[in-house]
Amino acid sequence: MSLMKSWVTSANSPDTDFPLNNLPYGVFSRAGEEARCGVAIGDYIVDMAALEAAGLVTLGDEPVFDLPFWNDVMELGREAWAALRARLMQLLTEGAEEQALVQPHLIPMADAQLHMPLVVSEYTDFYAGRHHATNVGTMFRGAENALPPNWLHIPIGYNGRASTVVVSGTDIHRPMGQLKAPDADLPVFGPCKRLDIELEMGAIVGTSTQMGQRISVAEADAMIFGYVLLNDWSARDIQAWEYQPLGPFQAKAFATSISPWIVTPAALAPFRTSTPEREKELLPYLREPAPMLFDIDLSIDMQPAGGAPETIARTNYNEMYYSAAQQLAHHASSGCAMNAGDLLGSGTISGAEKHQRGSLLELSWGGKEPLTLQDGQSRSFIEDGDTLTLRGHAQGDGYRVGFGACTGTILPAIETE
Ligand code: CA
Repeated sequence: MSLMKSWVTSANSPDTDFPLNNLPYGVFSRAGEEARCGVAIGDYIVDMAALEAAGLVTLGDEPVFDLPFWNDVMELGREAWAALRARLMQLLTEGAEEQALVQPHLIPMADAQLHMPLVVSEYTDFYAGRHHATNVGTMFRGAENALPPNWLHIPIGYNGRASTVVVSGTDIHRPMGQLKAPDADLPVFGPCKRLDIELEMGAIVGTSTQMGQRISVAEADAMIFGYVLLNDWSARDIQAWEYQPLGPFQAKAFATSISPWIVTPAALAPFRTSTPEREKELLPYLREPAPMLFDIDLSIDMQPAGGAPETIARTNYNEMYYSAAQQLAHHASSGCAMNAGDLLGSGTISGAEKHQRGSLLELSWGGKEPLTLQDGQSRSFIEDGDTLTLRGHAQGDGYRVGFGACTGTILPAIETE
């Protein structure tokens, strides 16, 4: 696959996240306007509500783009998703007949504010990166017991909170919580001291299943509407005290950030890759019939208050042990109903090397090996005023399919009663 050229010339740059090959879905507004659906192309956003009003794009019987979310498009189903992509390709390709009709509905991205691209129905977070699970397990339980005995058989997850999933650019207050130092007799309530990121991909479920309905991995793959970058902010000290026996609770419930553009499986199709070879054979309901993971380069930038951003880790989505399709098939396997708008976090994505680790907990090895930033500051965990930014793109031949940034700045805790 090579670059597909658009008459929007900024979309033809090898460095843009948003060539014609991509066409990701977001929600935007300009000052004083209602938020509505848009599609990124180069340095512009296609105003989908305006295209719909002009009769240039029609999906179904009711307007679906003059809304501040893509859930209504999701619920139209896969044939409508394919028709939409084909129509956008036709309108935006180099030499398109309708260029003059579409041009007035391009909004400079620099003038727009981006919003949450969907209403998140429910949020589930997995733990499916083997290097991450091994690193964390080694720190907490020792190298011999690093992977729990179920890990090679089940994509492990927990049910998180949809209510605190926010779009990139949203500031996050340092969470408060119960903390207990290992040598203390009693816990205290106070600001988290070991605040962390988790570099993940989020998969957005686009169609629903009924309660009691199981699905194959292939069916699960076909249900996925798109992917975003996801930062599962984590309070390590709150987590350490609260997590046994039911898993994380408040430590991960205060904020989860996602990138603003939903990148479709169609755009990512040339970058499909297989999950790694299995150490233990999976039960049949979890086996992948085809490659369902993606080759997506990922990075983390840290920027201290008043300082310059620097990249502190680089890894790839292809490090996952389980794909989103396997996670979704597993999620429905008990009869749990899945809904359009459900968000599945992949689990932290770490590679084998130290600079490939997707959390500060791993990068600083639990605080024992702090990072030294370019300006000489050291970091084991996040300080107030730090900005953390995730980036990701699949690299094609002379083009990339990118996600935009997933960024957030940490503000001081709100300590007043
Ligand atoms: Ca996580």
